[in-house]
Amino acid sequence: MGGSMGVMETERELSVYESMAARFDVAARKLNLDGGIYHYLRKPNREIIVHIPVIMDNGKLEVFDGFRVQHSIARGPCKGGVRYGPNVSLDEIRGLAAEMTWKCAVVNIPFGGAKGGIICDPEKLSVQELERITRRYTAEILDYIGPERDVPAPDMNTNEQTMAWIMDTYSMHVRHTVTASVTGKPIDLGGSRGRREATGRGCMIVTDQALKRFGRDRASTRVIVQGFGNVGSQAARLMHEAGYKIIGVTDIHGGLINTNGLDIPKLLEHVRSGGVVPDFSGGEKIDNVEILEQDCEVLLPAATESQITSRNAARIKARILTEGANSPTTAPADDILFDRGVFVIPDILSNAGGVTVSYFEWVQDRQGYFWPEGMVNERLKHIMVQSFNDVVAYGEKHNVNNRIAAYMLAIDRVCLTLKMRGIYA
Ligand code: NAD
Repeated sequence: MGGSMGVMETERELSVYESMAARFDVAARKLNLDGGIYHYLRKPNREIIVHIPVIMDNGKLEVFDGFRVQHSIARGPCKGGVRYGPNVSLDEIRGLAAEMTWKCAVVNIPFGGAKGGIICDPEKLSVQELERITRRYTAEILDYIGPERDVPAPDMNTNEQTMAWIMDTYSMHVRHTVTASVTGKPIDLGGSRGRREATGRGCMIVTDQALKRFGRDRASTRVIVQGFGNVGSQAARLMHEAGYKIIGVTDIHGGLINTNGLDIPKLLEHVRSGGVVPDFSGGEKIDNVEILEQDCEVLLPAATESQITSRNAARIKARILTEGANSPTTAPADDILFDRGVFVIPDILSNAGGVTVSYFEWVQDRQGYFWPEGMVNERLKHIMVQSFNDVVAYGEKHNVNNRIAAYMLAIDRVCLTLKMRGIYA
C-alpha cells in the first residue's frame, strides 16, 4: 500500500474485539459507568465452542470448529448472525456479539446480542456438505437457541437457505415447526417481506439523513460501495434507483470504477449470472484497496471488518462514511477520520436495518400474521430516522463523535434495563 509511514502506522491495528472494547471503554468513562457493571458488560455472558464432525462427499470424516457467543440478554433474547469463512475466529465473534447488543439498543428493539460462526471455506464445499455442517452446528447449540433464547440470522457467506436448514433442524428436534427460531428465512417459510433488502435500505435511509444535514442532493452525490453481497448489492441497487451516482463497486475479486456512474442493474445481472465485479465491461478495473481512497462523497464499506485502518484513514476522501459492514473501521482509524471531519455513520446504527426487519420477522412469525412490504419499509424508515436523530443529538449533547454517541446511547439503554431488573448475583 502506498503513502508515507506515520507514527500511527507503526502501531499494531486492533482486532474486532479490541476495537469494540476500546470504544466501549471511552463510552463507559464518559457515562461514568459503575465499575462492576463495566466489567459485566465488557465480556459476553456465554461463549460456546463446538467441534463439528461432518462426513464429506468423499466419505471422509472432517471436524470443523464453530462458535456461538451470547453477549447479553438484558433487553431480550439474543440476536445475531452466523458467518462462515476460513478466517472466522472466536475473537471476531466475541466482538461482533457485543456489537449486536449495542446495535439492538441503538434502534431500541427488544433483543440482546449474539454472533456465531464456523471456520470453513464455503467456496470449497458442496451444497450437501454445507447443509450437513449447518445442521450439525445447529444440533450442537440447540439447547441455547430458540425464539425466546437466541435467534440466528444470515451474515457473511450464509443466506436464506442456511436459515431454512437451521430452522428445520431446530424444528425436527423440538417436534414442531418453529419459524421464529431464525430470521432471514425465505418468505415462503415465514420470512419477512423486505428483509433481503433491509440492511441496504437502512444504509440508504441514514445516508439520506446525512445528506439532509449537509444540504446535498442525491444526484450530485457520488458513492463507492465495497462488497457486492447481501448488503452491498442491495444498497447499490436501492441508492442507484433513488438517484445516487454509484461510481465504484468492488468484491473480493477486485474493483470497478466509472466516474459517470455504473449501470447497477446490468452489473447485478452480470453477478447473478455468475460473473465477478471486476469483469463487468461498464467501467475500469481498480484494485479493491485503492478504490476506498478514490474521490467520492459517500463511502459504503459492505464487505468485511478492518478495511479502514490507521494505515489508510488519512487517505479516505469521502465526506460521509456509511458503515454497511460490521466493524469495517478500526478504533485507531476513528480518531483520524474524526479529525479530518468525515461524518461517520457507525455500523451499529447504519447497518441496523437488517436486525430491525429481523425483529419484524420474529414478531410476524410469533403472530402468524404477515405484513405487506410497504408496511415493513415504512416501519423500518421510521426506526432508522428516529435512531439517526437520537445518535446525532446524543453526540451533540455530549460533545462526542457519532460512534461514541451510539455506544453511549446503547450502553445507557442496556444499563437502564439492568438497573430495573437488578443483578441476579
Ligand atoms: P456476503 O457474503 O453476502 O457479501 C460479502 C461481499 O463482500 C461479497 O461480495 C465479497 O466478494 C465481498 N468481499 C469480501 N471480502 C472483500 C474484500 N476484502 N474486498 C472487497 N470485497 C470483499 O455478506 P453480507 O451479508 O453482505 O455481509 C457483509 C457485511 O455486512 C459483513 O460485515 C456483515 O457482518 C455485515 N452485515 C450484514 C447484514 C445482513 O443483513 N446480511 C446485516 C448487518 C451487517
